[in-house]
Amino acid sequence: MKIAVIGAGPAGLFAALAARRYNISVDVFEKRQVGGGIVCGECIFDSLRIFPRPDEGLLRPVREIILQGRRGYKLALGKYRPLWMVDRKTWQRGLARRARDMGASLHENTAVSPARLNAMQAEYDWVIDAGGAPCVTSRLHSFQAEYFREYLLAYQFVLEGDFSALMPRLKFAFLENIPTRFQPSYYWVFPKYAHTANVGVVCTVHGSLGRHDPNLKELLADVCRRENLQGFTIVEKGGGIAASRMVTRLVYGNILLAGDAAGLTSPLHGGGIDLACLSGVVAVEALWGGPREVARYGKKLKAFLRERKAVEDIAIRKMRSFSFDQFDRLLAGVTARGTPARLKTGLCHPDLLWATLRWFGTKKKPPAWPV
Ligand SMILES: Cc1cc2nc3c(=O)[nH]c(=O)nc-3n(C[C@H](O)[C@H](O)[C@H](O)COP(=O)(O)OP(=O)(O)OC[C@H]3O[C@@H](n4cnc5c(N)ncnc54)[C@H](O)[C@@H]3O)c2cc1C
Repeated sequence: MKIAVIGAGPAGLFAALAARRYNISVDVFEKRQVGGGIVCGECIFDSLRIFPRPDEGLLRPVREIILQGRRGYKLALGKYRPLWMVDRKTWQRGLARRARDMGASLHENTAVSPARLNAMQAEYDWVIDAGGAPCVTSRLHSFQAEYFREYLLAYQFVLEGDFSALMPRLKFAFLENIPTRFQPSYYWVFPKYAHTANVGVVCTVHGSLGRHDPNLKELLADVCRRENLQGFTIVEKGGGIAASRMVTRLVYGNILLAGDAAGLTSPLHGGGIDLACLSGVVAVEALWGGPREVARYGKKLKAFLRERKAVEDIAIRKMRSFSFDQFDRLLAGVTARGTPARLKTGLCHPDLLWATLRWFGTKKKPPAWPV
């Protein structure tokens, strides 16, 4: 079997590694150099508790996060689901090196156009489009609009300054005074090192932003004022979309979509690295299994996501219907130190309690990770 993979991001690299495990011949096409052009908070959240611990590029596991409403609340999330701060460029370059060592051919600085994709469909048995959103398949098959029905729009600075007070934690702060239809919206301060952090802002968008809608660049400037980061040096800046709704169709002839191209980032927090890697591997398992498995590819991904999605849908509904004070009380309740206080909050929000217990209580069988 001979396959082509479009994109050497997390989804494409895990697909290439998985393919080599089956001895499938694989060509990876990446429009930049591996690890180039990344705009990311660089925290891998193992939301299903099945992800292999990153090695090269790992900066540290994260045990505690701060959720900021009216006040900052500490949550030991790492106890329930692993989180890792990584240097994504180093991590992806390490994965690419490993894929090459295993026999994959990587073609950097090689963008795949819709016409080239058309030709590839005849040259290869299968093509995995892991080119992010909107992907080249969406241009060939005219479904780009699907990504923009509901998505997260983000803008980020990489800042140099003193972040030692926050280290080793990460901070998510929810934004007040944002119309509810843009919820979830929040900003993040993710220190990589004591002197460098990714600081960004994100909001949910339906369609496109109008002139009177939130301006992410202005919001991020406000965040820097609020967090006293004005004197810090901006070493990089950039934005992007997180495709947070799974696209309706994942297979186009012999093309399978994986990662952001499949719309797999979390609609709650915008994290998508774990699902990108998972879908890259599950896509390869599907095409190795033959047409029946390929037809079940979407169903398999949905089964992985079921319990997490239930929690996210409830949390998003609450964020859109609650006042900021109500939401702050919920944050205070779920992060309370004592079990009785947490239980009391759970009993006030039985839908959230039940869904969270199911999410944390469900063990998923991991795929055969290639790393
Ligand atoms: C500002 C921001 C911050 C984020 N922070 C986090 C975070 O902290 N944690 C987290 O889990 N997720 C985060 N995400 C989401 C995360 O970045 C994505 O979910 C993840 O990168 C998806 O991986 P992927 O491999 O599907 O796509 P990508 O990482 O987008 O990789 C796609 C690759 O394909 C290449 N490519 C694209 N088109 C072509 C083409 N036509 N031909 C050849 N190559 C092509 C691109 O150059 C790229 O290398 C963030 C997103 C944004 C926008």
